[in-house]
Amino acid sequence: MEAALADLRRTTRAAVCAECGKCTAVCPLAACGGFSARAIACQHLDEEIAGNGIGLRRCLTCGSCDLRCPQGVRFMELVRGVRELSPR
Ligand code: SF4
Ligand code: SF4
Repeated sequence: MEAALADLRRTTRAAVCAECGKCTAVCPLAACGGFSARAIACQHLDEEIAGNGIGLRRCLTCGSCDLRCPQGVRFMELVRGVRELSPR
C-alpha cells in the first residue's frame, strides 16, 4: 500500500503541491464548506485512504482544480487512484 501511495503521489504530481490553495478557490464543493482538495491531496492523503476515501468520494471530478493548478497536480487522477486504493 505504501509503495502504491508513493507512486500515486509521484505520477499525479501531488508530491510537488505548493499548497497555494488555488484548487480550493475554484472547487464547487469547497464553496459549500467542509471540503478542501488541497488539504486532502497534499496533507492528509494517508488518512483519506485509511478512512475509506470518504472525502475524495465526494469529489465531483469536474476538473476545475486541474485547470487552475500552477504545479500541474492531476487531482482527478489522484481521486481515481485513491478510490481504487481505498477499501469499499
Ligand atoms: S492548486 Fe495545485 S499546487 Fe495549489 S494547493 Fe492545489 S494542488 Fe497544490
Ligand atoms: S475535481 Fe473535485 S476537488 Fe477538483 S474542483 Fe472539482 S469537485 Fe473540487
